[in-house]
Amino acid sequence: MINLNQLPDNPYLLLTPGPLSTSKKVKAAMLRDWCTWDQDYNQLVQSIRSRLVTMASSKPDDYTTVLMQGSGSFCVESVIGSVIPRDGKLLVLSNGAYGKRMAEMAGILGIYSIVLDSGETNPVSTKQLEEVLKVDASITHVAVVHVETTTGMINPIADVARIAKSYGKTVIVDAMSSFGGIPIDIAELDVDYLISSANKCIQGVPGFGFILARKAALLTCKGLARSLSLDLYDQWETMELGNGKWRFTSPTHTVRAFDQALQELEEEGGVASRYERYKTNQETLVAGMQRMGFETLLTTDLQSPIITSFLYPDSAVFSFDEFYSRMKQEGFVIYPGKITAAATFRIGNIGDVHLVDIERLLAGMEKQLFWKTT
Ligand SMILES: *Cc1c(COP(=O)(O)O)cnc(C)c1O
Repeated sequence: MINLNQLPDNPYLLLTPGPLSTSKKVKAAMLRDWCTWDQDYNQLVQSIRSRLVTMASSKPDDYTTVLMQGSGSFCVESVIGSVIPRDGKLLVLSNGAYGKRMAEMAGILGIYSIVLDSGETNPVSTKQLEEVLKVDASITHVAVVHVETTTGMINPIADVARIAKSYGKTVIVDAMSSFGGIPIDIAELDVDYLISSANKCIQGVPGFGFILARKAALLTCKGLARSLSLDLYDQWETMELGNGKWRFTSPTHTVRAFDQALQELEEEGGVASRYERYKTNQETLVAGMQRMGFETLLTTDLQSPIITSFLYPDSAVFSFDEFYSRMKQEGFVIYPGKITAAATFRIGNIGDVHLVDIERLLAGMEKQLFWKTT
């Protein structure tokens, strides 16, 4: 075991929604090589898969996990491209970049789809969903983003799933930036596919993502994929039959780091405890920034405990680039905004980020309100 104190400190803390700040133990876990088809490694993969299922579902026997190489979008594309039959039709509920991206994927893959866009500052509309499902029986799948990282909005996935299921639709949830940080029970919600990645709330490093799938749904998907390398069924079958084997080169170091990250999540007390930490971080951040005169884009009821959008201060002198570089000097990397409706920047509070870090951030920021003093 290496002495963790010998690892260099990060020059700044990432207050971004992933890749994010990870613990030294997670980074240190990558300091050895693994053979991708050796038993030691494959057992690690199987253990990760079963821990993810237990974490996500109160009925673990009904679900399975597929690990998939690439960033989160690769995993979303793998699901969109692998689970919808040729005569299927996808309905995407969108209120930001990630909802829009799912619709773009469907377009490129030649999948018939419609989008219900509620606008960036409103939650997705369950009322509209129900109206459309009532009249369009050709829809087979409904996709929604849990936390729309574009703004930090939390969408009502329980209502979406309940309505979609009452019409017999297959439900796909992009829970990229929430799984592991907000309690979710996919069995209780009746979700068929949930997608997330290594480098968000589980606090691992980038390189792969994972799909939690209802076994009964996934078993109908053989031969449906529009891509060879992103074939979800084939990837699952290889992992299942090969006992943790990946079809193509696996991100071995990242997987080992993820195993450590999962262990740290357990040590923290599981998802419920992590959720409390994130919530405290987020609430402390907003209260402190409001004291300095900042306003949030969203009202508290729509806000997730993951990332927050702040409006630019009402000042001709404010420049985000200047603010960004001053905050980086203070030891914090913040995040630009991503919406068209308003000028915003974002601050994430997930990762190896604790109340003391948020307090340090606020103290550092207090010194950098340059537009107030000029
Ligand atoms: C991060 C994220 C993704 C995936 O983004 P990648 O850059 O491909 O990892 C997808 N959906 C949401 C909601 C996200 O936050």
